[in-house]
Amino acid sequence: MRIGAHVDPTDPLAEATARNAEAVQFFLADPQGWKTPKPREDADRLRAADVDLYVHAPYVINVATLNNRIRIPSRKLLLGHASAAAAVGARGLIVHGGHVNAGDDLAVGFDNWRKTFAYAADSGGFGLPVLIENTAGGENACARHLDALARLWDVLGDHEVGFCLDTCHAFAGGEELLGLVDRVKAITGRIDLIHANNSKGAFNSGQDRHDNLTGGTIDPELLVTVIRAAGAPVVVETPGGVEGQRADIAFLREQLGRTA
Ligand SMILES: [Zn+2]
Repeated sequence: MRIGAHVDPTDPLAEATARNAEAVQFFLADPQGWKTPKPREDADRLRAADVDLYVHAPYVINVATLNNRIRIPSRKLLLGHASAAAAVGARGLIVHGGHVNAGDDLAVGFDNWRKTFAYAADSGGFGLPVLIENTAGGENACARHLDALARLWDVLGDHEVGFCLDTCHAFAGGEELLGLVDRVKAITGRIDLIHANNSKGAFNSGQDRHDNLTGGTIDPELLVTVIRAAGAPVVVETPGGVEGQRADIAFLREQLGRTA
């Protein structure tokens, strides 16, 4: 089980060393912006590293929405980030499940996801696994509650689609953590990556506010139980910079009974 952290993109490998991390996740462009990433000068070095790399797509991407002015550029941007992520040897591109606006039909949102994968296939494929991440908030989200996730996976059918489970988002989104991995795997058949985060917000608060693993409103022991059950690589997206994340990684290694 490789354990790492979400880090600043300037020099992800140095960030990995500073945290004693075996994996890093980073952005390839402004997470609040619509820019397609430029090729990275350190692409060869990143591809050759023995640190596992994951890329997080910008937050502005929402391929589910019925709003054309968001959905169409979202598709293109997702594909652009996928090829840029593949170019640095990333093992997966993480993207949030997205949502439809109040009053819009969620079924159309799921179908927009299907069209996104069809569009990518027509364009030569994503080039790496795309991992859809569960989200914490919203009443019309595609991947907050497991019943919605099941409908999303029904629609995506034969497409190759991965899943990233965020423990903070699940808890704040209102899904009980006990037994969650089994319930998720019954739907998706897989968990490709864990975002291991405690939550500042209460259960079912809908708040996307990450906390360090031994802080927050989730019992750390329960957090470890979920992570162990998932058996997937782990990325912490926790506060406190190098020190905070280094401590979270060390905590997990100790709890999971292994050293690195
Ligand atoms: Zn996350």
